[in-house]
Amino acid sequence: MVIIIGSGAGGGILAYELSKVNIPVTIIDKGDYIETNDGIKHYDAYDENIDLLTTTCVGGSTIVSMANMVRALDNELNDYGIDLTDEYDYVEKLINVHEMDDSHIGDGTRLFLDAAGELGLNVSKMPKAVYEEKCVQCGMCALGCPVDGKWTSKSFVDDAIENGAQLITGAENIGILTENNAVAGVKYSKDGEEFKLQSDIVVLCAGAINSPLYLRKLGISNAGRKLFFDPFVTIGGVIKGINFNKELQMAGLVIGDNFVLSPHFSSFIRDKIHDETVSNEDILAIMVKTPDDGKGYINDDGSVVKENTINDIRYMAEGCAAAGMILEKAGVDVNTIKSTVYRGAHPGGSAAIGEIVDSNLETSIEGLFVDDASVLPISPGKPPILTILALSKRLADYLKIEN
Ligand SMILES: Cc1cc2nc3c(=O)[nH]c(=O)nc-3n(C[C@H](O)[C@H](O)[C@H](O)COP(=O)(O)OP(=O)(O)OC[C@H]3O[C@@H](n4cnc5c(N)ncnc54)[C@H](O)[C@@H]3O)c2cc1C
Repeated sequence: MVIIIGSGAGGGILAYELSKVNIPVTIIDKGDYIETNDGIKHYDAYDENIDLLTTTCVGGSTIVSMANMVRALDNELNDYGIDLTDEYDYVEKLINVHEMDDSHIGDGTRLFLDAAGELGLNVSKMPKAVYEEKCVQCGMCALGCPVDGKWTSKSFVDDAIENGAQLITGAENIGILTENNAVAGVKYSKDGEEFKLQSDIVVLCAGAINSPLYLRKLGISNAGRKLFFDPFVTIGGVIKGINFNKELQMAGLVIGDNFVLSPHFSSFIRDKIHDETVSNEDILAIMVKTPDDGKGYINDDGSVVKENTINDIRYMAEGCAAAGMILEKAGVDVNTIKSTVYRGAHPGGSAAIGEIVDSNLETSIEGLFVDDASVLPISPGKPPILTILALSKRLADYLKIEN
């Protein structure tokens, strides 16, 4: 049996791939099985000094993701002998990654695409796993989709269950059992009762903040001493009546040297404009996302610290300058342009390949693997889900041979 702890981007596809070939799988999640449109209720709370977005529930942060799917870190993973070309092809087909049909490109997004093109930036539609026949373009992806119009890991969990996998939700006090530096199983409690499951393969997929904490308890003390989070801000201003807030979000993409840009509504922009005649319908905004130097860390109590380097700040400034030019070209009143605070939604790198796990994602404890954003060697500065899915598919193939 393979025990998978966590069922987000890393855990869901792993459970699906293994269960498909009749390998017994048990998924243990701290979170509950929820309706996708309840995602908003399952965001995690961090220290008030850090604006980090993750969710705890079956499907993990994919429940609130925008389903943007971009290949990343090819060269860096190649350095560890990892070539994901076949896995990317497989996963993109499996979840139908594609650029949105023009029917799902709204007026604000069109202005973004045209303005960026006129400025000579490297612009395209965003590859997405959003399905035109279901998506009602409500702009609510980050709250959890009300119509299940996008891919989430929950669908892999559902398929895995159909293939015979067992799902345990709402588990507490989860601990990994070891004997002679090899994995022996997992213990957990639920509804006041304690349970023990035996297995010589355990895969940690609890996300980049939680997986390193399990590792530290087993003596892998350098786990979580490094952390990136792909910082982002959203900057925007007023174009009266653009109705961008009701469009499918992040359907366009600019790739710069040190940043990516994508059209993205934030109600925080309107709040900062302090003009009662301006409503959410009047805002056009752009998310600026950058890679960071990974100068964060996780404390033993799960609190997170993020420090910024000169490069982190420089990249953000470069991205904001480009976003400002696009907004101006698109017709936004430049005197109204505001920014959200500095935030992060892609924590990773806390159990990196080459440091904490090997290129098969195995730790120094035999049979204990990590398969989530923790293993990414550096900050991609781009949506990481597709890379996590591809790495997970690669691990599934490796475990199929081992079993
Ligand atoms: C609002 C938002 C939008 C995003 N949009 C995109 C996007 O469009 N494209 C993209 O590529 N990325 C996006 N991301 C980032 C992406 O969702 C994450 O990078 C990705 O889901 C990380 O995968 P993971 O497997 O590491 O963790 P997660 O997907 O978060 O999964 C972690 C799992 O572990 C469980 N868990 C948590 N704590 C414990 C514990 N202590 N013990 C056991 N289980 C636990 C959780 O319930 C969950 O099942 C977005 C993130 C946010 C917050």
